This record gives sequence, structure tokens and C-alpha cells, in this order.
Amino acid sequence: MSTGDCAGPSASTAKARGGKKIGKKKWAIEVDERTAAMSQPALECRAMNHAWHSVRLSVARRLELLKLGQTERVRECQRCDTTRTTRRQLPSYDVLSDAYHYPDTSYLVPKGSGRLSAAEADKALLVQEMAGE
Ligand SMILES: [Zn+2]
Repeated sequence: MSTGDCAGPSASTAKARGGKKIGKKKWAIEVDERTAAMSQPALECRAMNHAWHSVRLSVARRLELLKLGQTERVRECQRCDTTRTTRRQLPSYDVLSDAYHYPDTSYLVPKGSGRLSAAEADKALLVQEMAGE
């Protein structure tokens, strides 16, 4: 009985490995491991840029900024909910600050690990799509 238990699982593991190898050899796609923790919207935005739309300031906020001689543009991504706020000096329109706020940590790669390129994000998306087929 114990011999049968050992032979069974190892035989099926070998089959599964064989099947994966065929796919990997054919396409030879290796994905950046940092993309594993990223959500699909995050990967899409990294691959294709954010889908910004402008968020209108309230009258109170606009007046508050005008008192400081400033204005700001707030953008929100329709896909991943990241916001970007660009504060400008009036009347020069020089940028005072330009800040991104991410809805969660799935958009970012670990600090100090370097930038994830658009191509790497796109590749991870492709592999996700292929896995769903
Ligand atoms: Zn986005």
C-alpha cells in the first residue's frame, strides 16, 4: 500500500511538469517576479499609463488655494483609482508639488528594486491572459 502511494503522486507530478515545460519552451516567457503581487488594474496602468480624468475642485478649495496664490489640478485614474495632485504657483504656473496617491500597495514594486518597465508589466498581463485561456 505504501509503495502504491509513492508511485501514484510522483507519476502525476512528472506528467504535470512535462506539460508545463512544453508551454515554456514554445513561448519562452519569463515574467518579472515583482509583478506577482500587482493587481490587474495596476499592471494595465503600468503597461499603458493611467486613464486620467480631471476632478473638479470645490469652490471652497479653489478660494483657499487662491489666498495662497496657488492652484492645483487633481486627476484620478478611472482604472486603478490612483490620484495625482499637481500644485502650481500663480501667476507663473510653476509646479510647486506633484504627488501621486495610490489606492493600495499593489501598484508599486518594492522600494529599491528599480523601476518596472511598461514592457515587463505588459508581458505579465499577457501571461495572465494566456493562463485564462
Ligand atoms: Zn491607473
